Amino acid sequence: MRVRIPSVPYLNKLRALKVRVRLAPSPTGTLHLGTARTALFNWLFAKKEGGSFLLRIEDTDIERSQEKYIKNIYQGLNWLGINWDESPVIQSERVNEHKKIIKTLLSKKLAYRCYATEPELDEMRETQKRNGEAPRYDNRHRDLSPEQELEFIKQGREPVIRFIINDQKLISWNDLVRGKMSWIGKDLGGDMVISRRAPADSIGDPLYNLVVVADDSTMKITHVIRGEDHISNTAKQILLYEALNLNIPIFAHTPLILNSEGKKLSKRDGVTSISEFKEMGYTPEAMANYMTLLGWSVPEGVNERFKISEISKVFSFEKVNKASAKFDWDKLNWLNSQVIHEMSPINLLDRLEPLFKNNGWELPTQEWGQHLVALIGPSMTLINDGIDQAKPFFEEPSIKEDGKKQLEKKEAKIILKFILEELTKINAPTFNENQAIGLINQATKSCEVKKGLVMKSLRASLFGTLSGPDLIQSWILLSRFSKDRSRIRRVI
Ligand code: GLU
Repeated sequence: MRVRIPSVPYLNKLRALKVRVRLAPSPTGTLHLGTARTALFNWLFAKKEGGSFLLRIEDTDIERSQEKYIKNIYQGLNWLGINWDESPVIQSERVNEHKKIIKTLLSKKLAYRCYATEPELDEMRETQKRNGEAPRYDNRHRDLSPEQELEFIKQGREPVIRFIINDQKLISWNDLVRGKMSWIGKDLGGDMVISRRAPADSIGDPLYNLVVVADDSTMKITHVIRGEDHISNTAKQILLYEALNLNIPIFAHTPLILNSEGKKLSKRDGVTSISEFKEMGYTPEAMANYMTLLGWSVPEGVNERFKISEISKVFSFEKVNKASAKFDWDKLNWLNSQVIHEMSPINLLDRLEPLFKNNGWELPTQEWGQHLVALIGPSMTLINDGIDQAKPFFEEPSIKEDGKKQLEKKEAKIILKFILEELTKINAPTFNENQAIGLINQATKSCEVKKGLVMKSLRASLFGTLSGPDLIQSWILLSRFSKDRSRIRRVI
């Protein structure tokens, strides 16, 4: 039997099948939770398929795009551990390419100049509204004669360019999340504007649907994974792919993220940008873990607490839900506390030390710092909780109501005087657990009181309140600076 050797074009086609996905954020604001979740799904899919994850900065809205937002987007993705495989494509640098494509569409008579003015369009929409019709462009300038065009130009009108959408045209695709999707041309709002107004002898700024198709095609994107708010854009973009005779990518529309009231998560919900979550003290590990769960269900037997690098092995669109995802603060907080509780003291200190420094708090030694974070870590939910919890180890706390009550007990002063006296015989920096326990037992015996009374009085003197982490360990930490002595002294 003869073995068929594939021809070169066939091999090229195989190579082209390598998965290439992209995130295409507009730098008109900080990296939004929804965009970051889209980034994650793209990244996870690329990893799973051994493909590439790319970035494209959609900065064609010159007025609203800002360099600082581009930086924020890069930083946010880096922070989450989402790396990209090639230099980001900057959309505004490709404007000549986009205009070339518009010219092609014009020359093929698939697009035309529309001279309708804004007041005319407003009036058209008003009439449609009055008649109970959905607002749409009525294609009024689709077939202008050269004379009519000339007349409009003479009037000084600047046209937009519109791409022809056939009302009868059926558009369908197999969505990786939503299955078979179908649209009919007449539901797409009439012929689509693909460039802004400009003098008739030029081409105005190319618009979103056109540039996305041009760029996704040039970047050889195989799968377009984005939020479901883009579904109608997808229908329009498919028409452009067809008109330009380009390969149509596979689409996956991910569910929206809703707030607890079931409305689309927005600025009004307070925090929505990744940098804000970071500032609040969420860890990148918990954020990435939680965002993956926003719309994706873990396969059976897989724990909901995971690292994204591991979960990429089992990520698939079959488990991405069609229904919107509700943002659940309790779950995010739970995941964040898990991440913190699993951290080694060295790692936790790494995250907290910059925050301590911001407050002017210096660590006597790294070992002391690790001892401190090991003590407070188990009760932390957010990294920032570490500030409040570490504060009494650096700054003398005020005496709270419960502490005051305890210290007013007549035995309290006797106990504390005894302890202070004994402490003068002990070397502060080497004060250890055995000595601390011994001293508490001695005070219990000598002052003839219950051990609980000794412990509570000691805690009230050292921290001004009756609640806090392990007393013995806390005391040892304080004694490193002899702070235990000064604090006891101030209350007796
Ligand atoms: N710049 C668009 C956005 O931020 C990109 C949409 C797309 O992925 O095509 O929504």
